[in-house]
Amino acid sequence: MNEAHLPEVAPPSATLAARSARSLMEGQSFCVLPWVHCHVNTQGGVRACCISPVELGNLRRETLSQIWRGDAMHRFRAQHLSGQPVAACRRCYVEEAAGNRSLRQIANQEYGGRAADWVDGSDAEGRSPLSRPIDYDIRFSNVCNLKCRSCGHAFSSSWFTDAKEIWGITAGPKAIIRAFDSSDEFWGAFDGFVDDVQKITFAGGEPLLNDQHYEVLAALRARGKLDVFIYYLTNFTVLDHGGVDVTTLWRDFSNLHVQASLDGTGARGELLRHGQSWPVILDNRERLRRQCPGVKFRVSCTVGALNAWHLPDLHRELIETGFIDPDQLEVNILHEPSHLGAQILPAAFKQHVAARIDDHIAWLQRFGARAGTAPEALQAVIVELRSFAQYMLAADQSSRLRHFRRFCELLDERRGENTAAVFPEVASLLS
Ligand code: SF4
Repeated sequence: MNEAHLPEVAPPSATLAARSARSLMEGQSFCVLPWVHCHVNTQGGVRACCISPVELGNLRRETLSQIWRGDAMHRFRAQHLSGQPVAACRRCYVEEAAGNRSLRQIANQEYGGRAADWVDGSDAEGRSPLSRPIDYDIRFSNVCNLKCRSCGHAFSSSWFTDAKEIWGITAGPKAIIRAFDSSDEFWGAFDGFVDDVQKITFAGGEPLLNDQHYEVLAALRARGKLDVFIYYLTNFTVLDHGGVDVTTLWRDFSNLHVQASLDGTGARGELLRHGQSWPVILDNRERLRRQCPGVKFRVSCTVGALNAWHLPDLHRELIETGFIDPDQLEVNILHEPSHLGAQILPAAFKQHVAARIDDHIAWLQRFGARAGTAPEALQAVIVELRSFAQYMLAADQSSRLRHFRRFCELLDERRGENTAAVFPEVASLLS
């Protein structure tokens, strides 16, 4: 589906057709997440997912149950039941039109079986028989020890001063932004959620620096809910907090996944994620392997203009040093801020990057037949590498190169860094 040919978005009042969950989930617009999931941002806002722009309620004013059974949530579900594209979900439709797998498609596949009865049992106004979500993504705060180039104050308290000095704009008046002022406030809003939870994502800020996240782990352990699917999006720099070694807590869980956000190796990684120490990352990997062999580990690499050229080297180095298996990489395309995205690169540079990715894919294919590497999982990584190259080549944003240059200059000056020295391949774009 080409973006130019996206179907018209139906108004919320469109007549609801009596469609089955199965046919809806196989269609081109429906998403199951409003039946199973809630995303809580660092300001207490609740959304259907981490990319939806629509706030369905705020846990600073209402409880989770009130929001789950509230008018905004009902309306959102009713829009999805209509079988028509939903305006707020455009980002998923655009991903699909570009040939990529959207969050919507991933969720429908994951929950297609489990959630069918809840979708079929909903009325046309969007009232669901399920009293609470079973899948949570909770961003307790923006507290973070790093200030990554692709991030900002809304997601990192460490960005506060730089954002204030450079742009005079911050996401709030103080460095730290919290979804809940106290643990009592959190547990009051989330009363009973531990009973039903099947999956929980901890992101941030840096989740391993957050006290309330440790309280949730303790509550799950106390209830013996050790098979809950737990998923971390972490900068992987800190495995101890407040005298607690998190690996001693993780050991007991049977379905725990750690996704480390790493955008480069060595000095490249340290510049892109300011505050990171690459030797610490290597130590933490060893520690995790030793102390929690059952924890599933992956690397998520956010790829933009600065590290597009480096991406194949990063992946190859991580494989050859045994840091990950070939299929343990996720390629996260940097869309925002747009002046850091790979679409700003000049055409000739893009061709060079695309050729490097092709060579890397050819090198990766050899792992397809090897024990320890699942062919489908490796294929998924290859698809993501190709999708990144396609995205990069799909549009010419080179007019934004001057913003890129200025941004690098400002950060280099403030942080005492030298982007051109660390990324010599982009040095000519910076002068
Ligand atoms: S369709 Fe996409 S944007 Fe909409 S709720 Fe589902 S995952 Fe989120």
